[in-house]
Amino acid sequence: MLVVGGGPAGSACAYWLADAGWDVALVEKKHFPRVKTCGDGLTPRSVRQLADMGVEDQLEGAHRYYGLRANGFGKTLEMRWPEHPHFPNYGYTITRHDLDGIVVERAAKAGATVFQGTEALAPILGEPAEGAALPECQGATVRDREAGTERELRARYVVVADGSLSRFGRALGTSRDRSLPQGMAIRGYYTSPRHDEPWIESHLDIRDAEGTVVPGYGWIFPLGDGRVNVGVGLLSTDKRWKGANTTKLMETFVQYAPTSWGLTPETCLGPPTGGRLPMGMAVGPHVGSNTVVVGDAGGSINPFNGEGIAYGYETGRLAAASVGEALAGGGREALALYDERLAHAYADYYKVANAFVRLISNPQAVQLCVGVGMRSEWLMTQLLRIMSNLMRPDALGPAEVGYRAMEAVAHLLPDTLSARLSA
Ligand SMILES: Cc1cc2nc3c(=O)[nH]c(=O)nc-3n(C[C@H](O)[C@H](O)[C@H](O)COP(=O)(O)OP(=O)(O)OC[C@H]3O[C@@H](n4cnc5c(N)ncnc54)[C@H](O)[C@@H]3O)c2cc1C
Repeated sequence: MLVVGGGPAGSACAYWLADAGWDVALVEKKHFPRVKTCGDGLTPRSVRQLADMGVEDQLEGAHRYYGLRANGFGKTLEMRWPEHPHFPNYGYTITRHDLDGIVVERAAKAGATVFQGTEALAPILGEPAEGAALPECQGATVRDREAGTERELRARYVVVADGSLSRFGRALGTSRDRSLPQGMAIRGYYTSPRHDEPWIESHLDIRDAEGTVVPGYGWIFPLGDGRVNVGVGLLSTDKRWKGANTTKLMETFVQYAPTSWGLTPETCLGPPTGGRLPMGMAVGPHVGSNTVVVGDAGGSINPFNGEGIAYGYETGRLAAASVGEALAGGGREALALYDERLAHAYADYYKVANAFVRLISNPQAVQLCVGVGMRSEWLMTQLLRIMSNLMRPDALGPAEVGYRAMEAVAHLLPDTLSARLSA
């Protein structure tokens, strides 16, 4: 078993496979701890996965927070994470520098062999497999980046977990469905007197110096260590995406953010960095004859809120279950169950999310939806539960009913996502 990439998706997959007793090698091109561009926000969904992997108590220095403070159209609402039978009512903020190595180490402790500083250069392709969506992959040519040496790593199954650019996945034949949304985001760090607040904060209408709403949204996530993570994001479905410049948007947001956060050139800790957010399962296929694609490499980010860490852990875990069954004798048919597991977990929800994102890409619709929503704390609390995928399976409360209504509407739309997941 070879896993390419040691981010949340690859490390979780390696952990669950090694924990089940399988022989796993993970290659990661960087050395941990390493810097990774992110908002550094863990929702209750991520916390649940970290707890299941037995590492929640190792999140030293992580800042515990209890909900979202949403700002928009002159209103501010503070909404706590809901009580839920499966998820905690809190999240953490922690830099990826400090987080990612913990899960990789957990995988290594469970028995995975981790090659850090080792880049997978290209897949070793076998014969094209009949009827499979991706060619057979016999392993990878890898390079030890320090020694400069190259060698081949062969494996029966290969997990593609190399993140949003996914060069390795694309060399195998994955591609993005451009009709589905993609995000673009940028973040930087500031020192701030409000660094240890118990809320993460979002701004739904960023205004320029003239008071005009500009496309995009902003966040300020307190890290509890003197710093805050400040960022902005934009969606490809927004007509204004093409001309948008995230660096400029970031400057506008920093000017616009409440002065009490103290975001000034003096408190800025360095230039911001950004990246793409492939979402809504828009990248695929997810299964080949002996390959599975997880996390950002498979476009697993939640389009509703741009959250990708939890979905990296979750898809890594789902893939590990299918690869384990394939290794146990189920072969290609068992591996193909990964597609079914993904569809079961996400197809309906992401269809609704993709439709919602298209809707709010229209500035008038944002103004209407957010403007109306922000007048009701109750309504926004229900929306928070839907957007962070924290609805209760055991209850039919307002959030669940609202979601079912959105689902019914989304089902009337053309179904490119289901086609992608069942391709
Ligand atoms: C600005 C920004 C803010 C965000 N904020 C949040 C947030 O607050 N909360 C949240 O949940 N999500 C957030 N996300 C999304 C989140 O960062 C991703 O969804 C998440 O990192 C996906 O995990 P992954 O394991 O799939 O990929 P990655 O985390 O990208 O991991 C891939 C790993 O593979 C390695 N790699 C790549 N190519 C190779 C190769 N050829 N050989 C070996 N190794 C390789 C990389 O070095 C990397 O370590 C944000 C994204 C951006 C861009």
